[in-house]
Amino acid sequence: MNIHEYQAKTVLKGFGVPVPKGAPAFNVDEAVMAAKELGGPIWVVKAQIHAGGRGKAGGVKVVKSLDDVRTEADRILGSTLVTHQTGPAGKEVHRLYIEDGSSIERELYLSALVDRETSRVAFICSTEGGMDIEEVAAKTPEKILTLTVDPATGIMPHHGRSVAKALKLSGGQVKQCVALISNLYNAFVEKDMSMLEINPLVVTGDGDLLCLDAKINFDSNALYRHKDIMELRDLTEEDPMEIEASKYDLSYVKLDGEIGCMVNGAGLAMATMDIIKLFGSEPANFLDVGGGATTEKVTAAFKIILNDPNVKGILVNIFGGIMRCDIIAEGVISASKELGVKVPLVVRLEGTKVEEGKKILSESGLDIISANDLADAAEKIVAAVKGA
Ligand code: ADP
Ligand code: MG
Repeated sequence: MNIHEYQAKTVLKGFGVPVPKGAPAFNVDEAVMAAKELGGPIWVVKAQIHAGGRGKAGGVKVVKSLDDVRTEADRILGSTLVTHQTGPAGKEVHRLYIEDGSSIERELYLSALVDRETSRVAFICSTEGGMDIEEVAAKTPEKILTLTVDPATGIMPHHGRSVAKALKLSGGQVKQCVALISNLYNAFVEKDMSMLEINPLVVTGDGDLLCLDAKINFDSNALYRHKDIMELRDLTEEDPMEIEASKYDLSYVKLDGEIGCMVNGAGLAMATMDIIKLFGSEPANFLDVGGGATTEKVTAAFKIILNDPNVKGILVNIFGGIMRCDIIAEGVISASKELGVKVPLVVRLEGTKVEEGKKILSESGLDIISANDLADAAEKIVAAVKGA
């Protein structure tokens, strides 16, 4: 789960991480009020969306008067920002963050993530922070340092000193860096983050370290033990179909293709997506209904697929184990009754209660193309979609 920059900064502040003063604003008047409260003389008006690259897209403006705060707030709120992380459709701005403008000597890069290769938390840093870090990674990767933290020892001062050295910090900044890395690590572990990015971390005109941007991603599997974090969820930033899926505890990810997939088991779902590609089409989603799903859950899953306007055909691929084929059949039918199936539907059922499942489907009057195995199913749905 992602949260907004201002929320991330509040979380980090709670761990003693230095961030500028600021306040969120949901309309222009609130933005001006917040700016007055901060006092100036320099403010930054920042669009709050769940995507980076806002600066380059005009979503971050440094201003020097309350009039300019008003003008920029008015311009940014309600506008659609298209950044390299939003996709071509962009994201509409519903919230702003009004922040103290800081003097900047140097812009550095710092992030932490779970490194799956070493099974450790890794810190990544570079002297080349700011808005072009993607380019640095692509063109001059030697300017990026990665270090991992052994979970047996936890965070140690030498980690912070290594980062400080890589970032060419000196004097009191080294001490600040050691504290910063330690605080960030504690925040990362305690709050079950999967990614934490400070870009830029700056050296201010006074020579202090300050986090000017913060992006946090939390491990969704651990959210149940962080009620405070769960409250920060902003549903307007999420795909409506994914929200619906999460209500039913379905593993659903919307994709750009045209073939809707309903599958049980993540491995089979991946294989189904692969084989659709192999036969020349693209999946519209990843969807794992899981084991032991109820008719209600399967109905919700099938409705999500039927409601996706990009779906030109549907492939139901079930290998019944714990999941029973008759439950799948009932879910497909109850969703179809409500919404109607206007696209080709290929069903491949195998395993527990397969005969019952097939019987329910064949008596339903639905126009179903049945398939014998995975390849047969994929070939048939791609042919049906391309032929239509
Ligand atoms: P994004 O990464 O989405 O572009 P940032 O928060 O990193 O957004 O802002 C972009 C740039 O704007 C930063 O690299 C920094 O130069 C400047 N900036 C952001 N916040 C402040 C601030 N509080 N004071 C001064 N400059 C800022
Ligand atoms: Mg940034």
